[in-house]
Amino acid sequence: TDYFNAFISTTDPSAITRDGLRESNKLGADYRFRPALGALRLKGRLKLLAVKDNISTTQLPTTCASGILQGYQSPFEAHVVERLCDNDGCLIVGKTNMDEFGMGSHSLNSFSSPVINGSSLTRDTTQALSAGGSSGGSAVAVQVGQAFTALGTDTGGSVRLPAAYTGQCGFKPSYGRVSRWGVIPYANSLDTVGFFGRSVADVYPVYRKASMPDDRDPSCISSATRIRSLSLRSRQRKKARNTKTGAKEDLSELKIGVPVEYNIEELDPAVRTAWKKVLEILKEQGCKIVPVSLPMTKHALSAYYVIAAAEAMSNLAKYDGVRYGSRTGPSDNAGDVLYSETRGQGFGNEARRRILLGSYTLSSEAIDNYFLKAQKVRRLVQRDFDRVLKFSNPLRNEQQFDISDLDESIPMDNKLGPSQVDYIVCPTAPTLPPKIQDVLKQTPIHSYMNDVFTVPASLAGLPAISIPVPTDIKYDGSDLHMPAGIQLIGQYLDDNSLCKFALDLE
Ligand code: GLN
Repeated sequence: TDYFNAFISTTDPSAITRDGLRESNKLGADYRFRPALGALRLKGRLKLLAVKDNISTTQLPTTCASGILQGYQSPFEAHVVERLCDNDGCLIVGKTNMDEFGMGSHSLNSFSSPVINGSSLTRDTTQALSAGGSSGGSAVAVQVGQAFTALGTDTGGSVRLPAAYTGQCGFKPSYGRVSRWGVIPYANSLDTVGFFGRSVADVYPVYRKASMPDDRDPSCISSATRIRSLSLRSRQRKKARNTKTGAKEDLSELKIGVPVEYNIEELDPAVRTAWKKVLEILKEQGCKIVPVSLPMTKHALSAYYVIAAAEAMSNLAKYDGVRYGSRTGPSDNAGDVLYSETRGQGFGNEARRRILLGSYTLSSEAIDNYFLKAQKVRRLVQRDFDRVLKFSNPLRNEQQFDISDLDESIPMDNKLGPSQVDYIVCPTAPTLPPKIQDVLKQTPIHSYMNDVFTVPASLAGLPAISIPVPTDIKYDGSDLHMPAGIQLIGQYLDDNSLCKFALDLE
């Protein structure tokens, strides 16, 4: 019944089709459908929740779609699962299929079967469309109505890319907004928990419920910082608008940045049209649209793949068949043989490629040229965003938290360049979903290029949301009108305003 291989394990297979479809029928299959926010409160209603298989649950195994974690049963629940399922909250329908440990962009690097995009005309894997990755199973579960909402993780685009390919809404909050307690790490300095739904209106209340301080995750933003950043932001808004009230944002007061570096030659015309369409709508509503420059964008992808692989290599070192993971080969004191056989058979090709890449870039002869350079590029990518975004990054201007300082010293005019904007609007991916068979022909580098528009916000830790925008262009000679994903990016910890802006656009 799981035609699209969206799940690795399910709570009750019959629940997925029957209840899931009933739920989705109630909501309407059209992704533009937008029920009133009030009707979507989690309390008092059972919502079907799909959980990516790298997020720990006590009911079902947590395998990260890896051979090395087959049968692994977590003794505890991830914080985000606890939050969403407590009392009369969500009901978990299953654990979703993904790229092994989150490594990939098409959900094909799975120990289980490859995920198939629900928009495919066929279920034949060669002709079917990519669902995007690595949280492809979560995106498809929502797309085909097997779940109301789904949890994914986004390290370099793994929520936004599958959301774009499947025509769903995918939100990656600021780094540290949602606790990662119980989320199996891929690259700790980049990992975030993200959310899927048919619309921003579906995703926003789920995110709000999940976003809570949590001492068990040291990178999770504390309540003191949340409060301070809120008051800083509201003062900055008042000052920017020169009004006495921090009242609700009006679209006509917004300045939207269009990063010129994202208008690349390889951009699919359908995606470009959708991008223009969104900008036109914003303009009609009174927003000011200005070009901005994010010159480090072109280096972000290489920096990301160096940093992510280095952190992944270190995270995966613990799967040695002794303490963690399934064991292959000779048992007990077999030393190196146990280690190499277990890891050789347990990890798939992509995970092994990242382990090798990470080991090399951290080695003494290469670290200066790769890992350290990549960290510098990361800093510059962050600086690019800080320069063009109107409001300052609350973590990078810690001294501003001194309230007595606020009025005069907010460095609004310290920012270089004329175009300071509220949000950035750009495509989520350069193309519409490719066919799986074409992806399989790509070299690893080629498929890494898919992430070119999503990794910059990840490196900078910024909140970013991908919304589906219908295109007029028919996909690949078929009758399908594929939606394109358009990404809205905001300043660090500006998640709530960003979501409200996205809600206004729906
Ligand atoms: N495609 C990217 C990678 O393979 C991003 C994955 C992710 O966000 N988990 O690293």
